[in-house]
Amino acid sequence: MNKVEHIGIAVNNLEAACNLYAKLLNTQVYKTEEVTAENVKVAFLQTGPSKIELLQALADDNAIAKFITQKGEGIHHIAFEVDDIRTEMARLKSEGFVLLSDEPKPGADNKLICFVHPKSAGGVLVELVQDVRI
Ligand code: ZN
Repeated sequence: MNKVEHIGIAVNNLEAACNLYAKLLNTQVYKTEEVTAENVKVAFLQTGPSKIELLQALADDNAIAKFITQKGEGIHHIAFEVDDIRTEMARLKSEGFVLLSDEPKPGADNKLICFVHPKSAGGVLVELVQDVRI
């Protein structure tokens, strides 16, 4: 894997969180997007080579809403950039990691994504991201 691409943070209120993290990191939100497949609204801030992804639930029954109910706001996942997500998924599967989907899914910010179950990754929800080249 190439680098930490972004850290995903679950928030209750995207607008308030955007203001907070823009102030904290001394930068601006460069993109806000709704990911309808996941029922979340996300915003991105860039810090050097890495990004912060803020995620707000748009429905009570989705993963972000459940996470906040159980644990409160905070770090939700760590995303690693890969060159070829299918190759990396096959490698992880052969190593015994549990993937949350059999196929890569379209994610925010022009990416193909796949999550690794936290139970098989030391309690950390790991996301693989591959740039979708146009
Ligand atoms: Zn993410």
